[in-house]
Amino acid sequence: MSAAKLLNGREVAERHARELERTLAGLAETGVRLCLATLQVGRAEDTELYARSIERLLKRLQIDRIASISPLDVGEDELAEKIELFNSDPTVTGILLFAPLPARLNTPRILNAIDPLKDVEGRRLFCASGASKVLSPTALAVGELIAETGRSIAGLEAVVIGHSDVVGKPAAILLMDKFATVTVCHVKTRDLEAHVRRADIVVAAAGKAGLVKGEWIRPGAIVVDVGENVVAGKLVGDVEFEEAARRAAFISPVPGGVGPLTNLMLVHNLLSLQRLRTARSGA
Ligand code: NAD
Repeated sequence: MSAAKLLNGREVAERHARELERTLAGLAETGVRLCLATLQVGRAEDTELYARSIERLLKRLQIDRIASISPLDVGEDELAEKIELFNSDPTVTGILLFAPLPARLNTPRILNAIDPLKDVEGRRLFCASGASKVLSPTALAVGELIAETGRSIAGLEAVVIGHSDVVGKPAAILLMDKFATVTVCHVKTRDLEAHVRRADIVVAAAGKAGLVKGEWIRPGAIVVDVGENVVAGKLVGDVEFEEAARRAAFISPVPGGVGPLTNLMLVHNLLSLQRLRTARSGA
């Protein structure tokens, strides 16, 4: 029996999608259309799946897309040139580079070619400007689920497991911005259990099924599971769900938690970039 309230990412995502539809319709009336340029190298199955899910969402929201797909042996200069074209194209609002790139390519160099004002994943820059925050969509999705709890985060002990540039670090920044006291754990952390045991908020983003034992969860904690692991053909998170749900006050499931919100947050970023651009141009 689970005591925790489920943080249902699908419901939150649907609510956001309807809000975005209204906002974008309002923008369209003023003649503004958003456009996402995507850069893909090769046709890895995961990337294709991700690209298709983004395509569906953009279609629903009537956002334009320019898709560039390069062969696996594409050169770094060629990719940088494509990015340059998107940077200088005024119809492009944001640029998304599907990662990971083949290991022979210098990913930081290519990411750094993206104009910070078109960096839809907040990879280059963490720009805070009033309501316009461009931060990793996955981290924003974590923030949305935590907001669903209705609890004030200020002063809470948050433990983020994982320190990647796309999830762990930006999630930690987001929590710090809300005045949580944040500890970031990673593969070299000595006593993960001790950190998790004292956490009011646990964000698990290691990509290791069952890493976080249910019995470690502090009673009443908020648990957001970002992990996506396939075990015996099933998608599972990093947290032992059943046991954790008995102790937590709120828990996000996998699937159906962070995942459904991530693409919506990408569109949210696209809108933030559009607003930043409008503010800069004084329009
Ligand atoms: P990553 O491999 O880049 O980083 C993993 C992090 O976990 C690293 O900081 C590593 O040090 C840490 N880690 C690994 N094993 C650990 C251990 N035993 N103890 C403590 N820390 C450990 O992965 P990522 O790109 O940050 O993704 C993390 C997970 O989140 C993956 O399962 C990924 O599929 C998932 N993910 C989900 C979404 C979504 O929308 N739901 C989006 C992005 C990533």
